[in-house]
Amino acid sequence: MVLKKKKLYTDILIIGGGTAGCYAAITITGQSDKKVIIAEKANIKRSGCLAAGVNALNAYIVKGKTPEDYLEYVKQDANGLIREDLVLTMAERLNKVTRHLEKLGLVILKDENGEYVTRGNRNIKINGENIKPILADAVYEQENIKVINKVNIIDYIVKDNCVLGAYGFSIEENIFYIIYAKGVICSTGGAAGIYKPNNTGFSKHKMWYPPFNTGAGYAMGIRAGAEMTTFEMRFIALRCKDTIAPTGTIAQGVSAPRLTV
Ligand SMILES: Cc1cc2nc3c(=O)[nH]c(=O)nc-3n(C[C@H](O)[C@H](O)[C@H](O)COP(=O)(O)OP(=O)(O)OC[C@H]3O[C@@H](n4cnc5c(N)ncnc54)[C@H](O)[C@@H]3O)c2cc1C
Repeated sequence: MVLKKKKLYTDILIIGGGTAGCYAAITITGQSDKKVIIAEKANIKRSGCLAAGVNALNAYIVKGKTPEDYLEYVKQDANGLIREDLVLTMAERLNKVTRHLEKLGLVILKDENGEYVTRGNRNIKINGENIKPILADAVYEQENIKVINKVNIIDYIVKDNCVLGAYGFSIEENIFYIIYAKGVICSTGGAAGIYKPNNTGFSKHKMWYPPFNTGAGYAMGIRAGAEMTTFEMRFIALRCKDTIAPTGTIAQGVSAPRLTV
């Protein structure tokens, strides 16, 4: 099979149009006149972790708490294996992003005083079944964003120790993409399927985390010699029999005591 080469040029290439990729794209075009390409392996309308929707925003600074409290929680949860500067800058922006998502159409539950309904110390309840289509709509409203769905990015274009773009191929047409960009953002999510599943047969890809996030971004970064930061801590969604959810989630539901190893 011969693949047709297609060269594209843009200011910013975003690899992976999940939550982070879509939000990065609308942020860039909202603040500048830069042209952005999102290259997504699936379809940004229903891709990545949020594909099926979620029922809470698990990162929010609720009344009476501060970004510093959030940092403290993350530090404890990760046994100190975090970049505090990155967590804090993220925590400082959580509520602004939440308000923006609500403006875009996300339904956030409110109490009789008009306050967001909280779930614990850092979460608010949402009707999030459509959170990904809402983000996708916001992307498609921006004329400076071009979305290429169903393209699997496989590597960076590297010259003189500099990333100039990325290579990928369409998973539906015989097209090999060569995308040049002045800047590249990698938001391909985590890496599912690294460890042997508990069910190696029929159900081996029944997992909590999207099986299609296969760690391409990690591999590309390592191959290109990029600084890979905050990879010391990893989350492994253990599963209980008959349930596809991290056991931590189940433990929370039954108020199990916290165990620090
Ligand atoms: C089942 C589940 C339930 C969750 N529930 C909640 C919740 O209730 N509340 C909450 O706050 N958080 C929840 N989370 C966490 C939250 O959804 C994630 O933290 C967040 O969506 C991660 O965003 P991301 O952009 O990093 O990754 P993703 O949204 O997964 O995006 C990665 C994107 O990259 C694409 N991609 C991967 N490789 C390539 C490649 N080689 N080329 C092109 N594209 C590629 C993927 O298709 C995907 O679209 C949940 C996660 C899961 C899995």
